[in-house]
Amino acid sequence: MLVGGVGGARFLEGARERFGTTTFPPRADAAPGDDSPEHTVTAVVNVGDDAWMHGVRICPDLDTCMYTLGGGIDTDRGWGHRDETWNAKEELAKYGADPDWFGLGDRDLATHLIRTRMLAAGYPLTEVTAALCNRWQPGVRLLPATDARHETHVVIADPDSGDGAKKAIHFQEWWVRYRADVETFGFAQVGGGEGAPAGGKAQASAAAIAAIEDADVVFLAPSNPVVSVGAILSVGGIRAALRTTRAKVVGVSPVIGGAPLRGMADRCLSVLGLETSAQAVGEHYGARSGNGVLDGWLVAEEDAGVAVDGVAVAAVPLLMSSPRATAAMIDAGLDLVGL
Ligand code: GDP
Ligand code: CA
Repeated sequence: MLVGGVGGARFLEGARERFGTTTFPPRADAAPGDDSPEHTVTAVVNVGDDAWMHGVRICPDLDTCMYTLGGGIDTDRGWGHRDETWNAKEELAKYGADPDWFGLGDRDLATHLIRTRMLAAGYPLTEVTAALCNRWQPGVRLLPATDARHETHVVIADPDSGDGAKKAIHFQEWWVRYRADVETFGFAQVGGGEGAPAGGKAQASAAAIAAIEDADVVFLAPSNPVVSVGAILSVGGIRAALRTTRAKVVGVSPVIGGAPLRGMADRCLSVLGLETSAQAVGEHYGARSGNGVLDGWLVAEEDAGVAVDGVAVAAVPLLMSSPRATAAMIDAGLDLVGL
């Protein structure tokens, strides 16, 4: 499952409902065969939202998946810990520390402190994530798409400059501080470092590539098609793995009846010059038989009639109102590609 944060986590709840629990991380004391259920679910998670704030490494989509599946999410907000308090954030504000627009909860901070410490000790993000999941037991395998830095940055007209000079800001600043409501020219992945060729872009982790190559079926969750799924697809090696895997690849539309269900996917799509429709997103992903990544495309019943060249399309209920409803969606996707 290729997933972002909120929509991605919900989709994974449906996958866990449909395919059963995947023990992750694997238990050290497992006897051979103990951890080989009929199905395993692996999520390749977007790291484009990741950022340094106040000296700690924040991985919003990984954490949203981990907290949601581990039963620790704040269900009203859809992100961060439940029973959260904000003392550290208030104290930071009193020092005038930047950034002051990012909500960093006290409980959440513990996750970031451990992650930062492990990264500083040299552990790759894949291993750090497994260590954090040891506590949360999400019941699916969570893998960052890459261990390298692959941050989404956004080129905007600087609101503080009178003459509309361009500047690049981190995606989080664009999304959280400006609510994507500022003149925007494009997105760029800022990457490299560990796992990337010198000066090159981030390469997918071996585990993420193996997950795609060894899968029976790959789903693109109904996550933001630009800054979540799109950011995963732009990691070196991911698109190629999707195009060559023996697995069938099924996408699920995050756009229903011309609007995203939550969030501001429309803002992101319009930056790319794309319409906010299940048709446009399906065409943007494209058919594997062409230059794209899809064998199947699930759209909502309201969008029956969508047709993408070379892709099997079905119109089914796409509201992730419960894990069971989402599991039914996954069954429809399996049907669509003959599994
Ligand atoms: P983020 O990382 O927190 O922005 O979350 P994602 O990228 O995973 O997901 C945001 C996307 O999920 C939005 O574009 C929504 O349209 C989509 N979404 C949220 N809930 C639903 C749902 O119930 N059904 C479908 N089809 N899409 C949904
Ligand atoms: Ca996200």
